[in-house]
Amino acid sequence: MEITIKKADKLKKHPEDSTLGFGTFFTDHMFNMDYNPEKGWHNPRIEPYGPIEMDPSTMVLHYAQAIFEGLKAYKTDSGEIQLFRPEDNLKRFNKSGHMLCIPDFDEEFILEALFKLINIEKDWIPGAPGTSLYIRPTIIAMDPYIGLRPSHTYRFFIILSPVGAYYAEGFDPVKMWVTTDYVRAIRGGVGQAKTAGNYAASLYATDLANKDGYTQVMWLDGVDLEYVEEVGAMNIFFLIGDELITPQLNRSILSGITRDSVIKLARSWGSKVSERKVSIHEIYEAHEKGTLKEVFGSGTAAVISPVGMIKFKGKEITIGDGNVGPFAAKLYTELTNIQYGKADDPFDWIMVLR
Ligand SMILES: *Cc1c(COP(=O)(O)O)cnc(C)c1O
Repeated sequence: MEITIKKADKLKKHPEDSTLGFGTFFTDHMFNMDYNPEKGWHNPRIEPYGPIEMDPSTMVLHYAQAIFEGLKAYKTDSGEIQLFRPEDNLKRFNKSGHMLCIPDFDEEFILEALFKLINIEKDWIPGAPGTSLYIRPTIIAMDPYIGLRPSHTYRFFIILSPVGAYYAEGFDPVKMWVTTDYVRAIRGGVGQAKTAGNYAASLYATDLANKDGYTQVMWLDGVDLEYVEEVGAMNIFFLIGDELITPQLNRSILSGITRDSVIKLARSWGSKVSERKVSIHEIYEAHEKGTLKEVFGSGTAAVISPVGMIKFKGKEITIGDGNVGPFAAKLYTELTNIQYGKADDPFDWIMVLR
């Protein structure tokens, strides 16, 4: 398939690196591609960034048959552009699609399309420390139809957003709110897919957490309401004694690429890493005994997000001294050094833009 390119007549003014924030600015062009049962995926094109016209009955608006991904492109000191494990994102994207009855796409072709798009938008990639270009591939159901069934037609698009340094003012440990009244996902559901409805479903509990002075929800499993699954939209790690623990993938946890990178990196340092069930009671007991050293989230946006406080059933505990711990700090430094080309890449995670 040939990707057609239509350039924007008028280019936008680029924001200052210091004003970027997250997810508010978008570049001049986007990638689009359509699907129908006769042609399959067709008409791949790069064109000016702009609205998608849709009928009010468009299925995605009613039944949330939608999937997305999130990854970043980084500018190195020498001006090269590199991506972090993009093939893993595309593989996961197809996996999410499988769960939502969305037809799969050729991952190699989309990687090429992404490279083409980024090459056109190269000047949008910010250079200040900690900044990057956030990449959001999305697929939505496009049939104009009211009635429940998989859509026959889809739109695939990729948009790009220059984003600021997550920790511009230093690490900011987050406060986590644990609830047994609400769950993010449940085994047999779509928790392991990056699909729109999961995030809508997390809003209400997060709002309650915010109203109680907490940043995010630490989600427990939907069956026993006891085992920790994720925090906000990140995976979670606990350092208890010298064991680094993260919940095992149980079909309701999203399989994070940062999670996998943390596991591999920590193991390469000789740390004991366990993927296993970890109950909220075990966390509180470890805290009681003084063996709970660190807690942190992992995800593409923040990379590593230290947890300073947890509240469960009215009881609040402070992790360590409430600041970022040495293990989280080391992981953050090493991962970002690889992403920005400041350290060797022993796992072959980096793909340089070609
Ligand atoms: C995207 C996401 C993560 C983190 O995945 P990464 O690949 O590390 O960015 C974790 N949990 C949820 C629910 C997510 O949507």
